[in-house]
Amino acid sequence: MQTTYERELSQSKEFLTQNDHFLIVSHVQPDGDAVSSTLAVGWLLSCLGKKFVMVNEGPIPKRMRYLWHAEEILDLSVTPLDRQFDHVICVDCADFKRVGTTHERFAEGARLLNIDHHPTNDHYGTVNLVVPHAAATAEILFDLINHMGLELDESVATALYTGLLTDTGGFRYSNTSPKVMAAASKLLEYGVDGPGLSELLLEQMTLPQLRLLTRALNGLELTEDGKIGWVSVTDEDLKATGAVHEDMEGIVNYPRNIQGVEVGLLFKVINEQAVKVSMRSAGKVDVARVAQSFGGGGHVRAAGARIEGTLNSIIPRVLEQVRQQL
Ligand code: AMP
Ligand code: MN
Ligand code: MN
Repeated sequence: MQTTYERELSQSKEFLTQNDHFLIVSHVQPDGDAVSSTLAVGWLLSCLGKKFVMVNEGPIPKRMRYLWHAEEILDLSVTPLDRQFDHVICVDCADFKRVGTTHERFAEGARLLNIDHHPTNDHYGTVNLVVPHAAATAEILFDLINHMGLELDESVATALYTGLLTDTGGFRYSNTSPKVMAAASKLLEYGVDGPGLSELLLEQMTLPQLRLLTRALNGLELTEDGKIGWVSVTDEDLKATGAVHEDMEGIVNYPRNIQGVEVGLLFKVINEQAVKVSMRSAGKVDVARVAQSFGGGGHVRAAGARIEGTLNSIIPRVLEQVRQQL
C-alpha cells in the first residue's frame, strides 16, 4: 500500500512532468531553506528540460549568493515581471500570504504545487506535498529528487545541505532526525563543503550585524519570573549600525538561550503600522499556536507572525498570549 507521502510524491512528480513554464516562489524575507528550496526546484526542472522563472518578493540574503544560479532568483521589488504563470510551485510557505506580492504573477485559476514542512500549513495548493515532521523543505526535495530517479550533483547537493543546515541550526535543533543526518551524509558524498558552509552561514558575522546584535541586547527585557525574554529592533537601530534586514536573523536566539527562559521573542518594527515577531521556545510552549493566534504560523519551537499595530501596543499582547501557554 502507498503511504500518503508516496502518493504526494507521485502527484508532485506528475505536476512537474506534465506541465511546463513554471513560476517558483518562496516566502517573503527568504531564509536558507527558502532560497535553497527555490534553487533545488529550479535544478530539478532544468533536469527535466522545463522552462521556469524563480522569484521572490524581495532580495535574497547576500551570503547565499554562492548557491547554484542564485543570481537568477528575480527580486520583484526591483525587477518587474510582466507575465503571469498558470503553474506555480511554492516552497517553504506555510500559507498563501507568505508568498507576498509574488501572487500578482499567478494567473487566475493557476494550479499550485505547495511543498512545505510547517505543521501550520493549510494545504492551499492544488497539489500538496506537506510533511510536518520534515526538518526543512530541502529534506522533502531531497526525497522528491530521489523519487524522480534523478542523480544529484554537487550544486544541488550544496543547496539541499544549506537548507538542512540552516533550518536545523547546524544540526542541533530537535528536528535533527536520523533521516536528516542520513541525507546530510549522502549530500557530503557529492562534494558539499560542510565546514565551509557552517562557517559562512552560522559563524561569520558582518561588523554591522555584530553592532546591531549588541545594540539589540542592550534593550533585553525579561518578565518577572524570568520565563519570557525579548528584544526589539527598529529602523533606527538598522540605520545607526548600518545593518540590513537579514542581519536580524539569529538575534531571537539570545533571549531564548538564557537559562530559565521558556520563550524568546524578537520584535522587528516593519513600519509604523506593523511589527514582525519571531518566537522561539525551549520546548514547553508551542509557539506555533501563539503565532497562529496572530495570523502567523511555524513550528512548535520556532514560529513567527506579522502583526498590525505599534511596537508598544503589540508587546503586551504577545506577552499575554505566551503567558497563557506557560
Ligand atoms: P522566523 O522567526 O522568521 O525565523 O520564522 C520562524 C518560523 O516561523 C519559520 O519556520 C517561518 O517559516 C515561520 N514563520 C515566520 N513568520 C511566519 C508567518 N507570518 N506566517 C507563517 N509562518 C511564519
Ligand atoms: Mn523558511
Ligand atoms: Mn523551512
